[in-house]
Parts: sequence; C-alpha cells; structure tokens
Amino acid sequence: MTPSASVSLAAPAGTTRTARPSASRPKPTTTLLQQPQQDVKSGRFRTAVVVRLSALTLTSVRATEDAGERIEEFSDRFLVRCPRCSQRATVARVQGGDPYPLYWQRRFTCTHCGRTDEITPGNTIIERTTAEHLPQGAIVIGRPVDFYFHLPLWLQTSCRGEILWATHEEHLAFLERYIGATLRHRVPNKNRSLANRLPDWMTAAKNRETVLDCLRRLKQLADNV
Ligand SMILES: [Zn+2]
Repeated sequence: MTPSASVSLAAPAGTTRTARPSASRPKPTTTLLQQPQQDVKSGRFRTAVVVRLSALTLTSVRATEDAGERIEEFSDRFLVRCPRCSQRATVARVQGGDPYPLYWQRRFTCTHCGRTDEITPGNTIIERTTAEHLPQGAIVIGRPVDFYFHLPLWLQTSCRGEILWATHEEHLAFLERYIGATLRHRVPNKNRSLANRLPDWMTAAKNRETVLDCLRRLKQLADNV
C-alpha cells in the first residue's frame, strides 16, 4: 500500500489495517489510536468538562468545541457522483450484524437513472492512500471518495491546491463550525477526533477565510439539488 497523502481530513498518514474476523474485531474507532485503551465514553466525559469550563470563562467569545467527532461518525451517508449518469446519488448505511456500523452493508442509490448496488465491506481499512487502485471491498478513508464503493464525492472542491471534501451536509456543517470558530478547544487525548486530524492548511488562521469560501462553494453544491 502506498502511504501518505496530503489531502486527507481524516487520518494519520499511511495507515493500513486489516481487521480481524468479525467475532474478534476490536472497535474500529479505537484501533488507530495512539492510545488504544481510550474509549468513547471517557472521551465524551472529558468533552463535557471542557464545554462547562468554556461556558463559564469564554461566554463573550465565539468558540466551538472539538467534541471528538470522528470521520466514521459521518460515514452513515455519502453524497456521490453516479458512475452511470454523473448525477448526485447516495451511498447509505444498511443495518448489519457487526457491532461496529463502519462494517455494515452499504447501498448505492441513484434516483436519476435508477441504478442501485450493495456492498458488504471486507476486513481491510485503508487510510490516506495515494494508490491509484483501491481494492474492491476495502474501506478507504481519507480520500474524496465514499469509503465503500470508492465513488467520487459530490461535495469536493479545489482549495489552496488541495482537495476539500465532505461526505454529506452534516459533515460540511461540522467543518464550517470548526473552521469558522474564533477559538478552538481540543479535548486532551482525543487525537483520533476529526478536528485534531484536520490538516494544517485547513486550520491555519491565515487560511480561514479562504477555506470558508471553499466551504461555501461546497454548501452551494449541497443545496443545489
Ligand atoms: Zn445515475
């Protein structure tokens, strides 16, 4: 697997992991952590503490919290370009048997041409690859494609020589809130969070207005149904 790319919003560079048989799968949102013992519940507790502190001390300053959102949390639905008719289509999660929704079956639906497809992801998760060939069945995170069928995301635009992308409207709204915030609070030990993984070019104060302009372009794409 070819490691490292600069466009990912989601993950550390060059990460490839092969999941185990489903019966022994560890939680996918923790397997990439530097701190593998961390769990979601403890992270949320810490988040709540930060929110309360900021309410007391920063009430006059526009702020946003890094609540520890992970890119996996925005993987329930993707807006994509239909490979048959090039119109906007969706890849949506279908209920599955695995404890971790990242592994659940996905369904592609295009209401423009009627094309549908389904896929049950395999055990391999690839992050931030620059490889041209994306193996069928692999869950590919950190590219401007949906994780499952690897179709081009509908919400993507060139921005400062990079590709800015969002999986769907809620992911876009998260990026707008975070990039637009005057202050950004990061939750300790939450380095798997999406906010902590955003590349420097997106979060640098000097780029904020440019990135917000790019996000507005994505918003127009999202609204232009
Ligand atoms: Zn179509």
